[in-house]
Amino acid sequence: MASETGKLFTEDHNPRANLDRAKTPLLALNFLRRGLRPRGRSHRQRLASGTKERMDTIQITLPDGSTQQVPRGITPAEIARKISPRLAEEALVAGISSPSNGDVTLVDLKRPLEQDARLQILTQKDPAALEVFRHSAAHLLAAAVLELFPNVKLGIGPPIDYGFFYEFLRDEPFTTEDLAKIEAKMHELAQRNIPNERKFLPKPEALELYRKSGQTFKCELVEEKASEPMVSFYTTGKFMDFCRGPHIPSTGRIRAFKLMNVAGAYWKGQEGNAQLQRIYGACFFTQKELDEYLHRLEEAKKRDHRKLGAELDLFSIQDEAGPGLIFWHPKGGLVRKLMEDWSREEHLRRGYDLVFTPHIMRLDLWKTSGHTDFYRENMFGGPMEVEKAEYQLKPMNCPGHILIYKSRLRSYRDLPIRLAELGTLYRYERSGVLHGLLRVRGFTQDDAHIFCTPAQLETEIAAAIDFAFAVLRTFGFEKFQLELSARDPQHPEHYGGTVEEWDRAEGALKNTLDRMKIPYKYMPGEAVFYGPKIDFKLLDAIGRPWQLSTVQFDFNLPRRFGLEYVGEDGARHQPVMVHRALWGSVERFFGVLIEHFAGAFPAWLAPVQAEVLPIGEKFLDYAKHVTETLGRHGFRAHLDGRNEKLQAKIRDAQMQKIPYMLVVGAKEAEAGTVSVRHRSRGDLGPQPLAEFVASLQREVESRASS
Ligand SMILES: [Zn+2]
Ligand SMILES: [Zn+2]
Repeated sequence: MASETGKLFTEDHNPRANLDRAKTPLLALNFLRRGLRPRGRSHRQRLASGTKERMDTIQITLPDGSTQQVPRGITPAEIARKISPRLAEEALVAGISSPSNGDVTLVDLKRPLEQDARLQILTQKDPAALEVFRHSAAHLLAAAVLELFPNVKLGIGPPIDYGFFYEFLRDEPFTTEDLAKIEAKMHELAQRNIPNERKFLPKPEALELYRKSGQTFKCELVEEKASEPMVSFYTTGKFMDFCRGPHIPSTGRIRAFKLMNVAGAYWKGQEGNAQLQRIYGACFFTQKELDEYLHRLEEAKKRDHRKLGAELDLFSIQDEAGPGLIFWHPKGGLVRKLMEDWSREEHLRRGYDLVFTPHIMRLDLWKTSGHTDFYRENMFGGPMEVEKAEYQLKPMNCPGHILIYKSRLRSYRDLPIRLAELGTLYRYERSGVLHGLLRVRGFTQDDAHIFCTPAQLETEIAAAIDFAFAVLRTFGFEKFQLELSARDPQHPEHYGGTVEEWDRAEGALKNTLDRMKIPYKYMPGEAVFYGPKIDFKLLDAIGRPWQLSTVQFDFNLPRRFGLEYVGEDGARHQPVMVHRALWGSVERFFGVLIEHFAGAFPAWLAPVQAEVLPIGEKFLDYAKHVTETLGRHGFRAHLDGRNEKLQAKIRDAQMQKIPYMLVVGAKEAEAGTVSVRHRSRGDLGPQPLAEFVASLQREVESRASS
C-alpha cells in the first residue's frame, strides 16, 4: 500500500498553489499599502456611495459562457454575491482559467481580479475544492495545537488523499487523550468561524518573526522556498503560516473531520533529520462522507489479510526465518495449489509452454542482463562463491527464459514462443516497507515471456490482455482500470530501444486496446526505460484499487543477449520480447484475494468446502458416511466430531468461513439427507445428500465467486 509518509510536498503545502506564484508580488505590495484591504472593497464602497466616476472595468466569463463587465479589483466573493446569496454562502475557493491553455488556478475568494478572466466559483460540489478545504483543515489543526501546546515547533501541513496532516516537534509524544483535546479545540475554533487571511511580509521580517518565535523549521522553509521579496502568509486567528494558499474563507465550514493517528516522520523525509510527530486527520465536506470513509476503514481492518491469515490459519511470517518470507500453512497451501492448478491448465490451454529455471545462477548472467547495474539495490544479498565462481539468487525470471530461448536456433516458424513459469524470486526490500503478503522478499511470479515476430505483436498483446481479464474475472473481480504507460516524448534519451521500436510497440498496445474497445488511461512519461507497458488495476469488494497484471515490452534484453530467429528471408532477425505477469505474484494475489473475499473464499477455492456437524455422538457414523461420500466425489469435507453443542460447532465453522455446514441428526440419518446451512445465506433446509453433492458440483465447476 502506498503510504504518504514517504512523500514530502516539496513546495509549500499545496501543489496546486504553485501556479499562482507569478501574480503575488504586486498584489502583495497593494495589500500591505492598503492595510491588508483588498482593492475591490474600495470599488464597492464607491459604487455604494453612488459616485459616478469612470470605472476601470474588466470582463469576467462565467462557466455558463455569460460575461459581466465588472470593476477591476473586484473579488470572486463579490461576484458570487452578485450571482446569488446562496452561492456566496457556499463558495469555498475560486478557479481562474488561463486564456492560453485553459489550466485552472485556484485562488482565494478575496483575491482581487486585475484582468479579464474565466472564473468559476467552487463549492463542495467541486472535487477540486476538496484539497483546498483539507489544506485549511491542516491549518486549523496547527492553530488548535498551538493553543494547547504553545511550545511546539511546526513542520509542514499538506492535504492528503483522505484528509490532512500537520507536523510538530515536541519532546513528549502526543497521546490519544491529547488528540481528543486537540480535536475538541479544532471544533471550538471552527465554531468561531475565524477568517483565513492572506498577508505579506518582506522576507527578512518573515525570517525574523519565525526566528523570534523559535520556529526553526519554518525559517528553513522561508529561506529555501520564498523566492520573492514578499513572503505570503495565512493567518487563522493567532496562528500564522508561511503558505501560498489558497484557503477557504474561514474555519466555520470545517466540521466533518476526525484526528486519526500520530506517526513519526523525519523532517523533510530525510533520515538523520529531526523526528517530528505527524498528526493525521480524515476530513470531508460532509459528515456523511466522513462516516462512509470511517466505515470503509473499519471494513478494511476486518479484511486485513494479516489478521485473517492467522485466524484462518492460512500463512505466517516467522521472525526466526526472517522478515518478508512467507510460510504457507496447509489451508493456505491448499488454496495456492488450486490457484496454481487453474493457472497451469489455463496457460497450457492458451498455448504457453511451462518451464522451470534455477533459483540461483552465475552472477555473470546478471551482468549480461544489466541487472547488476540497474537492479543491484533490489538483488537479495550479495553473490555467493562456489568453486571460485560467483552466483546470485534470482530477482527475475527473464534471463532464465532467455537462456531456454537461446538454447537452440529458432526459426520464424517456431514463433511465437511463450514460456511460462511460476518462478520463485528473491528481492531486497527495506524491512520498513514489508507488509504481510503484499510486500515481501520472497515470492512466486506467474511469469511468462513471449518471443515473437513484429507481425505477431498485436495478436499476442490481445491474447495477453484477454488472458489477464480471464484470470481476474475467474478470481472474482469485476471492475478494472487499465493504464498505458508510454515514453515521455520530450526525453527520448531516457529510453532504450530505437524510435521505430517505441513507435511500433506503443502503437501495438494502443491499437489493441482500441480494437478490443477497452477504456484505458494514457500515461506519457510513465514507461520504464526498456519499453512501454499496460498495467491492470482492479477494484476490490470495497472499492480499493490494486495493481496486479502487467504486460511489458522489452527492447533491452533481446539486444543484450543477442536473441535471434531465422526469418522467412533466411536472414537473422531480433525477436520482440514481452514480459507479462497476471496475478503479479502468488503471494500478493493471495493477500488481495483474502481481503477481497474477507477470508470467505468461494466454494471452488475454500480449503474446507463443507463441515459435517453431527447433533450428537449417536449420529457420528452417519456423519462419517456423509463426510466420506463428499470426499469420494472430490470435495473437501471435514467432520466436526467434538463433543460440543451444535451452536458452538456452527459458530466455529462460521468463524472459519466454511461455505457449507451440514447438520445431521436422527431425521437426516433416517432419510439419507443433510440439513444445509450456508455461511452467508443461512439455513437452506434439508436436502438429499445426492442433491447436495450435485449442487456443490455445479457451484465448484462454475467457479462461482459467492
Ligand atoms: Zn498552508
Ligand atoms: Zn521478465
